[in-house]
Amino acid sequence: MNKHRFDVIVVGAGGAGLMAALYASRNADTAVLSKLYPTRSHTGAAQGGVGAALGNIEEDHPEWHTYDTVKGSDYLGDQEEIEFMCSEAVSTVYELEHMGLPFSRTPEGRIAQRPFGGHTNNNTGLPVSRACYAADRTGHMILQTLYQQCIKNNVNFFDEYQVLDLIIVDGSAAGVVALELLTGELHVFHAKSVIFATGGHGRIWEITSNAYAYSGDGVAITLRRGIPAEDMEFFQFHPTGIYKLGILITEGVRGEGGVLINGEGDRFMEEYAPTVKDLASRDVISRAMFLEMQAGKGINGDRYMYLDVRPETVNKFAASDGRKRPDGSPYVVTGEEILSKLPDIVDFCRTYLGVDPVTQPMPVQPTAHYAMGGIPTNKYGEVLIDEKNTIMPGFYAAGEVACVSVHGANRLGTNSLLDILVFGKYSGLKAAEYANSADFLPLQEDPTDFTQAQIDDLLSSSGDERPETIGLEMKKVMNDLVGVFRTEEGMAHALETVRELQERFKKVKVDDKGKIFNTDLLATWELGNLLDLAEITAATALARKESRGAHAREDYPKRDDENWMKHSLAWKRDGELELRYKPVVITKFEPKERVY
Ligand SMILES: Cc1cc2nc3c(=O)[nH]c(=O)nc-3n(C[C@H](O)[C@H](O)[C@H](O)COP(=O)(O)OP(=O)(O)OC[C@H]3O[C@@H](n4cnc5c(N)ncnc54)[C@H](O)[C@@H]3O)c2cc1C
Repeated sequence: MNKHRFDVIVVGAGGAGLMAALYASRNADTAVLSKLYPTRSHTGAAQGGVGAALGNIEEDHPEWHTYDTVKGSDYLGDQEEIEFMCSEAVSTVYELEHMGLPFSRTPEGRIAQRPFGGHTNNNTGLPVSRACYAADRTGHMILQTLYQQCIKNNVNFFDEYQVLDLIIVDGSAAGVVALELLTGELHVFHAKSVIFATGGHGRIWEITSNAYAYSGDGVAITLRRGIPAEDMEFFQFHPTGIYKLGILITEGVRGEGGVLINGEGDRFMEEYAPTVKDLASRDVISRAMFLEMQAGKGINGDRYMYLDVRPETVNKFAASDGRKRPDGSPYVVTGEEILSKLPDIVDFCRTYLGVDPVTQPMPVQPTAHYAMGGIPTNKYGEVLIDEKNTIMPGFYAAGEVACVSVHGANRLGTNSLLDILVFGKYSGLKAAEYANSADFLPLQEDPTDFTQAQIDDLLSSSGDERPETIGLEMKKVMNDLVGVFRTEEGMAHALETVRELQERFKKVKVDDKGKIFNTDLLATWELGNLLDLAEITAATALARKESRGAHAREDYPKRDDENWMKHSLAWKRDGELELRYKPVVITKFEPKERVY
């Protein structure tokens, strides 16, 4: 058997994993396992920016950022954790700057900032420039910067190793089992601390901005090992994915003055969010688009809208909104400015659509984007295994796979890049601290048993179900019935369909029986994960009889704080789902109605 030993094992090499590894490696022998080459992680696709109240463009405060995040979360976010994240934001962004991250700059040389949805001046309620950005490649720059720092700090990397199981000994994490893609061999990584930073699971839905790798491995593995998943009913639909493709068009486009236009040529967000308009939070805008399209007001009556960032449109609405430059002059943009601030967006649209955003509007529709739910943790990344917040020793999670919960029922743009940096850092620090006080736990004789059984099941199945067909059916039913708007009947139907698909999955056929780069086998294993998470998403959504943040029910259109101001926890035990709930942490802000 292939065996390795490290104090700290980090699973995932995105922003959260690399930040965790960087901090852990300063105090402990650390290795990172990643199914992708590190710089191909989804963090690299993040465009718009990272939120921090630097106040470089206009007045801003971490307290405002905290309030906006609480409000954006529809009051389901835990306020102590949110305050922690927003106050850490400023020093964290400067830390990345000092590591060499090439942020865009103001004319005076400070880090440039732009407005983003839901981020406001708390006195006026108007949008505030809080998103720190590197053109529209902010995630790419974060990932490259952190990877270089990790190499410099001698972090050990195992690239193209896919983790399939978490090893638990007497209730504590003790390592992981991974498959080496090149050889198909299983490896046991024995560790004192394990950090999961495996990203999200947006591939459950048909139209998504998420990478193929977003198959929910981390949450699926931990569910199989008896750890609950928190708030899985909350999944964010971003308003502006490229029509039919789902590829993301950053909210930064609206931050730079772009507006959404319906089939009648109207800027419809003026009606739905009179103060912040196109910069309302994502759940609010996705719903508005959906309602407009349902009323036949899509472009040509179809299910898409225009996102218009042509200079003449931007300048017209900036003038009617009274938007000004920081020096007080009117906000007027040129085609060159759009191109310099949004180069990748312009490039995507030219490449995938043959549309030039400087001269033509972009066709967009809501796209499945971000998992608010995940593995329950506290603000130090320590994994919590029940409604009493009991900590599992030696086990940590950070980034999109985790639920701290700072995003509650709806995440604000720029707060995920912030989340991965802040909680990546603290989980790394805590994991190293724990490793330095703990011993290696003795492993059972063959820790790969459980994993080997899963692989054997998939390879020896005699059925002829195609994984692609099962996957497509899942994505379609989840998009149609557990998407932007939900009903009892729809979700019940989706749940039943997903359960039928899980049965059919038992007869799935993997064509490639070989060992070397068997992506057929791994993609099928990932489909099993997606089905498990789809089931939990539909079941927790069906159970929550209210509308809150991204969870919008036609049959229960109001938020119900009396009965539903609580986090859901879902376990899967012996094939049965069990749901329990735990309270939301409220410190300063009593829940009120959200008005944008
Ligand atoms: C298109 C797009 C644009 C975005 N733009 C923004 C933005 O502007 N601002 C913002 O705040 N947020 C943005 N987000 C969200 C944000 O980028 C992500 O939530 C965040 O980067 C996730 O980081 P992570 O480290 O948790 O995961 P990732 O960066 O996805 O990394 C996951 C890692 O886990 C590894 N992994 C997964 N499963 C396994 C396994 N089984 N075994 C081994 N390794 C595994 C992968 O190889 C990868 O290295 C955007 C998201 C998308 C999709």
